[in-house]
Amino acid sequence: MSITLADARIVTPGGVHEGWLTIEDGRITHIGQGTAPGNGHGLSGRHVVPGFVDIHNHGGAGGSFPAGDLEGALRAAAFHAEHGTTTIMASLVTGALDELASTTSALADLCADGVFAGIHFEGPYIAAARCGAHDPARLRLPDRGEVARLIKAGRGHARMLTIAPELPGALDVIRDVVADGVIAALGHSDADFDQTIAGIEAGGTVATHLYNAMPPLHHRSPGPIAALLEDERVTVELINDGVHLHPAMARLAYEVAGAGRTALVTDAMAATGVGDGTYVLGAMEVSVQNGVARLVEGGSIAGSTLTMDVAFRRAVEFVGLSLVEAAEIASLTPARVLGLDERVGSIAVGKDADLVVLDDDLGVAGVMRHGTWLVEPL
Ligand SMILES: [Zn+2]
Repeated sequence: MSITLADARIVTPGGVHEGWLTIEDGRITHIGQGTAPGNGHGLSGRHVVPGFVDIHNHGGAGGSFPAGDLEGALRAAAFHAEHGTTTIMASLVTGALDELASTTSALADLCADGVFAGIHFEGPYIAAARCGAHDPARLRLPDRGEVARLIKAGRGHARMLTIAPELPGALDVIRDVVADGVIAALGHSDADFDQTIAGIEAGGTVATHLYNAMPPLHHRSPGPIAALLEDERVTVELINDGVHLHPAMARLAYEVAGAGRTALVTDAMAATGVGDGTYVLGAMEVSVQNGVARLVEGGSIAGSTLTMDVAFRRAVEFVGLSLVEAAEIASLTPARVLGLDERVGSIAVGKDADLVVLDDDLGVAGVMRHGTWLVEPL
């Protein structure tokens, strides 16, 4: 079946093209300038951007990936898809090892079905001093055997491990997981500058929500932020919700790392899209007020209620990026982190037809995944 989208402003890495595109069997087959040949689905000049790629997400619509409840996980993935996220990772949080293994095994089935691009272990090998909303009683020291067991439980779908590089044994674990094809992300860490460099040298290539859950920049003690930002091997995640970090800090990261090493993430939790109230993240009770999630005990920020469309819009409105730049950090760069950029992450001939149609105010007017409308634009 062939679909033509006409009268569109198509946002590609090379610029914005006024024209049309054709989709066959779920892939983009033609991109043309000007008026489309034949009848197409007219988009009234609206922008089309690539479907968003969220490499750090814990759930939404009441569903929580760490809870291992598959019905809730499907609901959360569908909710984020309606907000333009056509590629999504299932991020777990710190928990008991047996629970993590069984949740991983359950979620691996949904990865095999194409619901998730992979599983991300955020913890338990993170720093007590920077554990944020993770259960401090369940933190563990890096252990090669344990990590191998978790990866095995994922049956090829474990894709990322967030680890604090300063912990004893962390560098060996980083080397192991990278050799296994798993991305080592550095974060929830109390490391200094040199310890962070050691983590990168061992194979760390992602900064888990840069700025959050790590020592702040200091001119005599630059810490992990400076090390992660300036190293060409590292892609930095940003939770661009205006709560986790100020737009000026997002801009600073973007200026240093560039679009090629900056990835917008949501770090969304179950409350996303539901509203204020009390929720559970892993074993921790979380209260959401005015959309801000905090631990009931201690008041730490506990994940976000962000969706990728909002992160994208804020990148344009508050960080000052162009649509082309915002699309790169919301789609192409995170797709490259996952090694999926041959298939997704930009609008190009041969790639999956994962598309988001935006209104003039950058709200979501339509979402297509693999050539099928999830939200059909009027
Ligand atoms: Zn997280």
